[in-house]
Amino acid sequence: MVSAAAIVPTSVDSPEARRYNRIRRWLGVADFILGLVLMVALLATGWTGTLRDIAYKATFQHYSLAVFLYVLMLMLIGKILGLGLDYYSFRLEHRYQLSNLRLRAWVRDEIKGFLVEMVLAGIVAELLYFIMRQAPQHWWLIAWAAFLGLFVLLAQLAPVVLFPVFYKFAPLENEELKARLVRLGERAGTRVRGVYQWKLSEKSKKANAALTGLGSTRRIILADTLLANYSTDEIEAVLAHELGHHVHRHIFKSILVQAGITFVGFWAANWVLHYTMDRLHVFETLSDFANLPLLLLVVTVLSFLVLPLLNAYSRYNERQADRYAFQSIATVAPFISAMNKLAEQNLAERSPSQLVEWFFHSHPAISRRVAAAEAWAKAQLSARAT
Ligand SMILES: [Zn+2]
Repeated sequence: MVSAAAIVPTSVDSPEARRYNRIRRWLGVADFILGLVLMVALLATGWTGTLRDIAYKATFQHYSLAVFLYVLMLMLIGKILGLGLDYYSFRLEHRYQLSNLRLRAWVRDEIKGFLVEMVLAGIVAELLYFIMRQAPQHWWLIAWAAFLGLFVLLAQLAPVVLFPVFYKFAPLENEELKARLVRLGERAGTRVRGVYQWKLSEKSKKANAALTGLGSTRRIILADTLLANYSTDEIEAVLAHELGHHVHRHIFKSILVQAGITFVGFWAANWVLHYTMDRLHVFETLSDFANLPLLLLVVTVLSFLVLPLLNAYSRYNERQADRYAFQSIATVAPFISAMNKLAEQNLAERSPSQLVEWFFHSHPAISRRVAAAEAWAKAQLSARAT
Protein backbone atom coordinates (compact mmCIF):
# COMPACT_ATOMS: atom_id res chain seq x y z
CA MET A 1 0.00 0.00 0.00
CA VAL A 2 1.20 3.49 -0.80
CA SER A 3 1.29 5.63 2.30
CA ALA A 4 -0.80 8.78 2.12
CA ALA A 5 2.18 10.92 3.07
CA ALA A 6 4.09 9.80 -0.01
CA ILE A 7 1.55 11.23 -2.44
CA VAL A 8 0.91 14.49 -0.62
CA PRO A 9 2.15 17.38 -2.71
CA THR A 10 4.30 19.62 -0.55
CA SER A 11 3.99 23.18 -1.79
CA VAL A 12 0.38 23.61 -2.86
CA ASP A 13 -0.29 26.36 -0.34
CA SER A 14 -0.03 30.00 -1.25
CA PRO A 15 2.30 32.16 0.85
CA GLU A 16 -0.86 34.03 1.83
CA ALA A 17 -2.51 30.91 3.28
CA ARG A 18 0.65 29.97 5.09
CA ARG A 19 1.08 33.43 6.58
CA TYR A 20 -2.57 33.68 7.65
CA ASN A 21 -2.50 30.32 9.42
CA ARG A 22 0.85 31.03 11.01
CA ILE A 23 -0.46 34.29 12.49
CA ARG A 24 -3.59 32.53 13.74
CA ARG A 25 -1.52 29.89 15.47
CA TRP A 26 0.63 32.54 17.11
CA LEU A 27 -2.49 34.36 18.28
CA GLY A 28 -3.65 31.14 19.91
CA VAL A 29 -0.28 30.61 21.57
CA ALA A 30 -0.13 34.24 22.75
CA ASP A 31 -3.62 33.96 24.22
CA PHE A 32 -2.62 30.77 26.03
CA ILE A 33 0.56 32.32 27.45
CA LEU A 34 -1.33 35.43 28.52
CA GLY A 35 -3.74 33.29 30.55
CA LEU A 36 -0.86 31.39 32.09
CA VAL A 37 1.03 34.56 33.03
CA LEU A 38 -2.10 36.10 34.54
CA MET A 39 -2.74 33.07 36.76
CA VAL A 40 0.89 32.85 37.90
CA ALA A 41 1.02 36.61 38.55
CA LEU A 42 -2.17 36.53 40.64
CA LEU A 43 -0.79 33.70 42.74
CA ALA A 44 2.79 34.91 43.05
CA THR A 45 1.91 38.46 44.05
CA GLY A 46 -0.95 37.47 46.35
CA TRP A 47 -3.32 39.71 44.38
CA THR A 48 -5.74 36.81 44.24
CA GLY A 49 -6.15 37.23 48.03
CA THR A 50 -6.69 40.95 47.57
CA LEU A 51 -9.41 40.28 44.97
CA ARG A 52 -11.05 37.78 47.34
CA ASP A 53 -11.06 40.35 50.16
CA ILE A 54 -12.59 42.94 47.86
CA ALA A 55 -15.25 40.42 46.79
CA TYR A 56 -16.10 39.64 50.42
CA LYS A 57 -16.26 43.28 51.40
CA ALA A 58 -18.44 44.28 48.44
CA THR A 59 -20.94 41.49 49.10
CA PHE A 60 -21.06 41.94 52.89
CA GLN A 61 -19.30 38.60 53.50
CA HIS A 62 -21.86 36.61 51.51
CA TYR A 63 -19.95 33.54 50.32
CA SER A 64 -21.82 32.66 47.10
CA LEU A 65 -22.10 36.27 45.99
CA ALA A 66 -18.44 36.80 46.75
CA VAL A 67 -17.52 33.75 44.61
CA PHE A 68 -19.49 35.22 41.73
CA LEU A 69 -17.97 38.68 42.12
CA TYR A 70 -14.47 37.21 42.30
CA VAL A 71 -15.07 35.23 39.08
CA LEU A 72 -16.44 38.34 37.42
CA MET A 73 -13.38 40.40 38.40
CA LEU A 74 -11.06 37.65 37.18
CA MET A 75 -12.91 37.50 33.86
CA LEU A 76 -12.83 41.27 33.45
CA ILE A 77 -9.09 41.42 34.06
CA GLY A 78 -8.57 38.59 31.58
CA LYS A 79 -10.81 40.28 29.00
CA ILE A 80 -9.10 43.65 29.30
CA LEU A 81 -5.64 42.09 29.01
CA GLY A 82 -6.71 39.98 26.02
CA LEU A 83 -8.61 42.72 24.22
CA GLY A 84 -5.64 43.61 22.03
CA LEU A 85 -5.34 40.04 20.80
CA ASP A 86 -9.10 39.80 20.23
CA TYR A 87 -9.11 42.98 18.17
CA TYR A 88 -6.08 41.81 16.22
CA SER A 89 -7.93 38.56 15.36
CA PHE A 90 -10.90 40.59 14.16
CA ARG A 91 -8.64 42.75 11.96
CA LEU A 92 -6.79 39.69 10.68
CA GLU A 93 -9.95 38.13 9.23
CA HIS A 94 -10.63 41.40 7.40
CA ARG A 95 -7.09 41.75 6.17
CA TYR A 96 -7.42 38.37 4.46
CA GLN A 97 -10.93 39.14 3.16
CA LEU A 98 -12.49 36.39 5.20
CA SER A 99 -14.89 38.42 7.30
CA ASN A 100 -18.22 40.14 6.81
CA LEU A 101 -18.31 41.32 10.40
CA ARG A 102 -18.56 45.07 10.99
CA LEU A 103 -16.79 46.60 13.96
CA ARG A 104 -20.09 47.40 15.68
CA ALA A 105 -21.32 43.81 15.27
CA TRP A 106 -17.96 42.53 16.50
CA VAL A 107 -18.25 44.63 19.67
CA ARG A 108 -21.79 43.30 20.15
CA ASP A 109 -20.57 39.71 19.74
CA GLU A 110 -17.73 40.30 22.19
CA ILE A 111 -20.18 41.59 24.79
CA LYS A 112 -22.57 38.72 24.17
CA GLY A 113 -19.70 36.26 24.40
CA PHE A 114 -18.57 37.76 27.67
CA LEU A 115 -22.07 37.55 29.14
CA VAL A 116 -22.50 33.93 28.06
CA GLU A 117 -19.12 33.08 29.55
CA MET A 118 -20.04 34.93 32.71
CA VAL A 119 -23.20 32.84 33.15
CA LEU A 120 -21.39 29.57 32.42
CA ALA A 121 -18.35 30.39 34.56
CA GLY A 122 -20.64 31.60 37.34
CA ILE A 123 -22.59 28.32 37.35
CA VAL A 124 -19.42 26.23 37.25
CA ALA A 125 -17.67 28.17 40.04
CA GLU A 126 -20.72 28.24 42.33
CA LEU A 127 -21.22 24.52 41.84
CA LEU A 128 -17.55 23.76 42.42
CA TYR A 129 -17.18 25.74 45.64
CA PHE A 130 -20.55 24.57 46.92
CA ILE A 131 -19.36 20.97 46.54
CA MET A 132 -16.01 21.81 48.17
CA ARG A 133 -17.80 23.31 51.15
CA GLN A 134 -20.25 20.45 51.52
CA ALA A 135 -17.89 17.55 50.90
CA PRO A 136 -14.24 18.58 51.35
CA GLN A 137 -13.19 14.91 51.47
CA HIS A 138 -14.62 13.72 48.18
CA TRP A 139 -15.27 17.03 46.46
CA TRP A 140 -13.25 16.14 43.36
CA LEU A 141 -15.20 12.96 42.67
CA ILE A 142 -18.57 14.62 43.19
CA ALA A 143 -17.50 17.65 41.15
CA TRP A 144 -16.34 15.33 38.37
CA ALA A 145 -19.75 13.65 38.26
CA ALA A 146 -21.51 17.02 38.34
CA PHE A 147 -19.33 18.33 35.52
CA LEU A 148 -20.13 15.29 33.44
CA GLY A 149 -23.83 16.02 33.85
CA LEU A 150 -23.16 19.62 32.90
CA PHE A 151 -21.25 18.52 29.77
CA VAL A 152 -24.13 16.37 28.58
CA LEU A 153 -26.65 19.10 29.31
CA LEU A 154 -24.56 21.68 27.50
CA ALA A 155 -24.04 19.43 24.47
CA GLN A 156 -27.79 19.00 24.33
CA LEU A 157 -28.67 22.67 24.84
CA ALA A 158 -25.92 24.20 22.69
CA PRO A 159 -27.74 24.06 19.32
CA VAL A 160 -30.98 25.46 20.70
CA VAL A 161 -29.76 27.87 23.40
CA LEU A 162 -26.10 28.75 22.88
CA PHE A 163 -25.51 28.95 19.12
CA PRO A 164 -28.62 31.06 18.43
CA VAL A 165 -27.13 33.78 20.65
CA PHE A 166 -24.59 34.40 17.90
CA TYR A 167 -26.12 33.03 14.70
CA LYS A 168 -29.48 32.65 13.04
CA PHE A 169 -30.67 29.19 12.08
CA ALA A 170 -33.55 28.07 9.90
CA PRO A 171 -34.66 24.60 8.81
CA LEU A 172 -33.17 23.69 5.44
CA GLU A 173 -35.68 24.27 2.68
CA ASN A 174 -33.89 22.66 -0.23
CA GLU A 175 -36.15 19.65 -0.99
CA GLU A 176 -33.60 17.97 -3.22
CA LEU A 177 -30.96 18.03 -0.47
CA LYS A 178 -33.41 16.92 2.17
CA ALA A 179 -34.42 13.95 0.03
CA ARG A 180 -30.79 13.02 -0.47
CA LEU A 181 -30.12 13.15 3.24
CA VAL A 182 -33.12 10.95 3.96
CA ARG A 183 -31.78 8.47 1.41
CA LEU A 184 -28.31 8.58 2.98
CA GLY A 185 -29.85 8.06 6.40
CA GLU A 186 -32.04 5.19 5.25
CA ARG A 187 -29.08 3.42 3.79
CA ALA A 188 -27.33 3.80 7.14
CA GLY A 189 -30.44 2.73 9.05
CA THR A 190 -30.42 5.99 10.99
CA ARG A 191 -32.12 9.33 11.02
CA VAL A 192 -30.86 12.78 11.91
CA ARG A 193 -33.60 14.94 13.41
CA GLY A 194 -33.00 17.92 11.27
CA VAL A 195 -30.84 19.85 8.90
CA TYR A 196 -30.52 23.56 9.49
CA GLN A 197 -29.25 26.41 7.47
CA TRP A 198 -26.68 28.31 9.49
CA LYS A 199 -26.55 31.99 8.53
CA LEU A 200 -22.80 32.31 8.70
CA SER A 201 -22.63 34.83 5.84
CA GLU A 202 -23.67 37.67 8.16
CA LYS A 203 -20.27 37.36 9.80
CA SER A 204 -17.90 35.39 7.65
CA LYS A 205 -16.99 34.49 4.10
CA LYS A 206 -15.81 31.08 5.26
CA ALA A 207 -17.87 27.92 4.85
CA ASN A 208 -18.52 25.22 7.40
CA ALA A 209 -20.79 22.37 8.43
CA ALA A 210 -21.19 20.39 11.62
CA LEU A 211 -23.11 17.76 13.50
CA THR A 212 -24.29 19.20 16.81
CA GLY A 213 -26.50 18.37 19.77
CA LEU A 214 -27.50 15.24 21.61
CA GLY A 215 -30.72 13.24 21.51
CA SER A 216 -33.64 15.41 20.53
CA THR A 217 -31.43 18.35 19.57
CA ARG A 218 -29.19 16.30 17.29
CA ARG A 219 -28.89 18.10 13.96
CA ILE A 220 -26.65 18.84 11.03
CA ILE A 221 -25.96 22.50 10.43
CA LEU A 222 -24.85 23.75 7.01
CA ALA A 223 -23.50 27.26 6.54
CA ASP A 224 -25.38 29.33 3.97
CA THR A 225 -21.95 30.17 2.54
CA LEU A 226 -21.66 26.48 1.69
CA LEU A 227 -25.20 26.11 0.38
CA ALA A 228 -24.76 29.08 -1.94
CA ASN A 229 -21.50 28.07 -3.61
CA TYR A 230 -21.42 24.28 -3.73
CA SER A 231 -23.13 21.86 -6.09
CA THR A 232 -25.79 19.49 -4.74
CA ASP A 233 -23.35 16.60 -5.12
CA GLU A 234 -20.70 18.47 -3.13
CA ILE A 235 -23.15 19.33 -0.37
CA GLU A 236 -24.28 15.72 -0.30
CA ALA A 237 -20.64 14.69 0.23
CA VAL A 238 -20.41 17.09 3.18
CA LEU A 239 -23.73 15.81 4.55
CA ALA A 240 -22.49 12.24 4.23
CA HIS A 241 -19.39 13.16 6.24
CA GLU A 242 -21.51 14.71 9.00
CA LEU A 243 -23.78 11.67 8.93
CA GLY A 244 -20.63 9.59 9.41
CA HIS A 245 -20.04 11.40 12.71
CA HIS A 246 -23.60 10.57 13.68
CA VAL A 247 -23.40 6.90 12.68
CA HIS A 248 -20.11 6.43 14.52
CA ARG A 249 -21.51 8.22 17.61
CA HIS A 250 -18.61 10.63 17.73
CA ILE A 251 -20.24 13.18 20.00
CA PHE A 252 -21.05 10.53 22.59
CA LYS A 253 -17.55 9.05 22.35
CA SER A 254 -15.96 12.48 22.68
CA ILE A 255 -17.91 13.06 25.88
CA LEU A 256 -16.56 9.76 27.21
CA VAL A 257 -13.02 10.82 26.35
CA GLN A 258 -13.61 14.18 28.04
CA ALA A 259 -14.91 12.31 31.07
CA GLY A 260 -11.63 10.41 31.34
CA ILE A 261 -9.54 13.55 30.99
CA THR A 262 -11.57 15.58 33.49
CA PHE A 263 -11.32 12.70 35.95
CA VAL A 264 -7.54 12.98 35.85
CA GLY A 265 -7.89 16.77 35.92
CA PHE A 266 -9.97 16.80 39.11
CA TRP A 267 -7.67 14.30 40.75
CA ALA A 268 -4.66 16.47 39.89
CA ALA A 269 -6.47 19.62 41.06
CA ASN A 270 -7.24 17.99 44.39
CA TRP A 271 -3.61 16.95 44.79
CA VAL A 272 -2.27 20.42 43.94
CA LEU A 273 -4.78 22.18 46.21
CA HIS A 274 -3.92 19.92 49.12
CA TYR A 275 -0.22 20.30 48.51
CA THR A 276 -0.38 24.11 48.58
CA MET A 277 -2.69 23.98 51.59
CA ASP A 278 -1.07 21.31 53.76
CA ARG A 279 2.58 21.78 52.84
CA LEU A 280 2.94 25.38 51.66
CA HIS A 281 0.12 26.83 53.77
CA VAL A 282 -0.83 29.28 51.04
CA PHE A 283 -4.56 28.77 51.50
CA GLU A 284 -6.29 27.86 54.72
CA THR A 285 -9.25 25.95 53.33
CA LEU A 286 -10.22 24.22 50.10
CA SER A 287 -13.17 26.51 49.69
CA ASP A 288 -11.02 29.65 49.84
CA PHE A 289 -11.87 30.74 46.31
CA ALA A 290 -8.66 32.75 46.04
CA ASN A 291 -7.28 29.36 44.96
CA LEU A 292 -9.23 29.56 41.70
CA PRO A 293 -6.19 30.74 39.66
CA LEU A 294 -4.37 27.66 40.92
CA LEU A 295 -7.22 25.45 39.73
CA LEU A 296 -7.24 27.23 36.38
CA LEU A 297 -3.49 26.78 36.14
CA VAL A 298 -3.89 23.02 36.60
CA VAL A 299 -6.63 22.98 33.95
CA THR A 300 -4.56 25.07 31.53
CA VAL A 301 -1.39 23.00 31.88
CA LEU A 302 -3.32 19.76 31.60
CA SER A 303 -5.26 20.87 28.53
CA PHE A 304 -1.98 21.90 26.92
CA LEU A 305 -0.57 18.46 27.59
CA VAL A 306 -3.57 16.57 26.22
CA LEU A 307 -4.16 18.83 23.22
CA PRO A 308 -2.08 16.71 20.80
CA LEU A 309 -3.83 13.58 22.08
CA LEU A 310 -7.29 15.10 21.73
CA ASN A 311 -6.45 16.38 18.27
CA ALA A 312 -5.13 12.96 17.23
CA TYR A 313 -8.37 11.41 18.46
CA SER A 314 -10.40 14.02 16.59
CA ARG A 315 -8.44 13.42 13.38
CA TYR A 316 -9.10 9.71 13.78
CA ASN A 317 -12.84 10.44 14.00
CA GLU A 318 -12.65 12.74 10.99
CA ARG A 319 -10.98 10.04 8.93
CA GLN A 320 -13.70 7.63 9.98
CA ALA A 321 -16.42 10.11 8.95
CA ASP A 322 -14.62 10.66 5.65
CA ARG A 323 -14.54 6.92 4.94
CA TYR A 324 -18.21 6.77 5.75
CA ALA A 325 -18.80 9.53 3.20
CA PHE A 326 -16.76 7.70 0.51
CA GLN A 327 -18.96 4.63 0.93
CA SER A 328 -22.20 6.60 0.90
CA ILE A 329 -21.83 8.73 -2.19
CA ALA A 330 -21.77 7.56 -5.78
CA THR A 331 -18.23 8.78 -6.53
CA VAL A 332 -15.61 10.57 -4.46
CA ALA A 333 -15.19 13.34 -7.05
CA PRO A 334 -17.63 15.76 -5.37
CA PHE A 335 -15.97 15.07 -2.00
CA ILE A 336 -12.61 16.03 -3.45
CA SER A 337 -13.92 19.15 -5.15
CA ALA A 338 -15.75 20.17 -1.96
CA MET A 339 -12.51 19.78 0.03
CA ASN A 340 -10.59 21.90 -2.45
CA LYS A 341 -13.28 24.56 -2.46
CA LEU A 342 -13.33 24.62 1.33
CA ALA A 343 -9.56 25.00 1.49
CA GLU A 344 -9.72 27.87 -0.97
CA GLN A 345 -12.66 29.62 0.65
CA ASN A 346 -11.36 29.28 4.23
CA LEU A 347 -7.75 29.99 3.29
CA ALA A 348 -6.83 26.71 4.94
CA GLU A 349 -3.40 25.17 4.65
CA ARG A 350 -3.74 22.09 2.50
CA SER A 351 -0.37 20.74 3.58
CA PRO A 352 0.71 22.12 6.95
CA SER A 353 3.98 20.86 8.39
CA GLN A 354 3.67 17.53 10.12
CA LEU A 355 4.44 19.05 13.52
CA VAL A 356 1.79 21.75 13.12
CA GLU A 357 -0.79 19.19 12.04
CA TRP A 358 0.11 16.88 14.90
CA PHE A 359 -0.20 19.56 17.54
CA PHE A 360 -2.84 22.02 16.33
CA HIS A 361 -5.16 20.37 13.82
CA SER A 362 -8.41 18.73 14.82
CA HIS A 363 -8.91 17.70 11.18
CA PRO A 364 -6.49 15.87 8.91
CA ALA A 365 -4.79 18.16 6.40
CA ILE A 366 -6.95 18.64 3.31
CA SER A 367 -4.23 17.18 1.08
CA ARG A 368 -4.38 13.99 3.15
CA ARG A 369 -8.17 13.84 3.01
CA VAL A 370 -8.11 14.25 -0.75
CA ALA A 371 -5.36 11.63 -1.05
CA ALA A 372 -7.41 9.25 1.10
CA ALA A 373 -10.43 9.74 -1.15
CA GLU A 374 -8.35 9.06 -4.25
CA ALA A 375 -6.80 5.99 -2.68
CA TRP A 376 -10.22 4.73 -1.68
CA ALA A 377 -11.59 5.16 -5.21
CA LYS A 378 -8.58 3.38 -6.65
CA ALA A 379 -8.99 0.47 -4.21
CA GLN A 380 -12.65 0.22 -5.19
CA LEU A 381 -11.76 0.10 -8.87
CA SER A 382 -9.20 -2.65 -8.46
CA ALA A 383 -11.57 -4.59 -6.19
CA ARG A 384 -14.23 -4.41 -8.90
CA ALA A 385 -11.76 -5.47 -11.56
CA THR A 386 -10.80 -8.68 -9.78
ZN1 LIG B 1 -16.08 16.24 10.59
